[in-house]
Amino acid sequence: MRELRLPEAVAEDMVAHCLEGRPNEACGIIASSDGEVVKVFRMTNADASPVRYSLDTREQFAAYEKLDQERWDLAGVFHSHTRTDAFPSPTDVREAREDVPYIIVSLAQDPATIRAFRIVKENWTDAEGDIQEIPVVVEG
Ligand SMILES: [Zn+2]
Repeated sequence: MRELRLPEAVAEDMVAHCLEGRPNEACGIIASSDGEVVKVFRMTNADASPVRYSLDTREQFAAYEKLDQERWDLAGVFHSHTRTDAFPSPTDVREAREDVPYIIVSLAQDPATIRAFRIVKENWTDAEGDIQEIPVVVEG
């Protein structure tokens, strides 16, 4: 993927969810149809933590069912950094398990910044991996 194009409404929806989740990290997934991002699934941070996240498994399952029904694709997994830059933390890299864009919304500055990364590992159980940025384009 050369870039991740986000409709402005999608970007705003993600940022709003992240702001509402403070002081904890917030998370969710986005779905695309024919390469266009069409939907934000806001999820509960099962870790309820300001420094880490995990998608609520029941909500994740329900979202993936919806993706199947609608024939949508998983376009990315997003979470917020409330005080740090929009860059994967060592924990984010360690926990990465999928070849999907990992989108990070940083609330450290106003306005929020959104960046996306692919995390490349030889084995998904590896603690470390290569971080490759995917340019994010917000389309208004
Ligand atoms: Zn993170």
